[in-house]
Amino acid sequence: MAHAYDPTNIFARILRGEIPNKTVLETPHTLAFHDIAPQAPDHILVIPKGAYATFDHFCAEASEAELVDFHRTAARICDMLGASLASGGPGYRAITNAGDHGGQEVPHYHLHILAGRPLGPMLA
Ligand code: C5P
Repeated sequence: MAHAYDPTNIFARILRGEIPNKTVLETPHTLAFHDIAPQAPDHILVIPKGAYATFDHFCAEASEAELVDFHRTAARICDMLGASLASGGPGYRAITNAGDHGGQEVPHYHLHILAGRPLGPMLA
């Protein structure tokens, strides 16, 4: 059974075109755009177009095509930022927050990609 998903969340509204965003890359299953409150020189959010609230819901319910498209898009963003180690870049951070304990604010799965400076230790 599909999980509960709130279609009024802000990323669902971005996907419906109701709210503008600064798109970096769009593919059949994935959208990547600039975070409105960047925590690093480069801060991109990568979201699936499907209705998944968290990483675990996405992994459990998405098709292989969605999963592959999402991760290849995220890797492409790292490349586009010049951060990807595969292309000789200095690195990046890719994180996701899930639920209350994860500090998730927007209940549509998203991967934060942060780059452009040394990011230091991760844990708060
Ligand atoms: O992982 P979490 O849910 O806490 O992160 C939500 C992110 O979405 C924040 O970094 C916030 O700045 C971003 N955001 C955005 N555009 C909006 C609303 C929130 O980029 N319209």
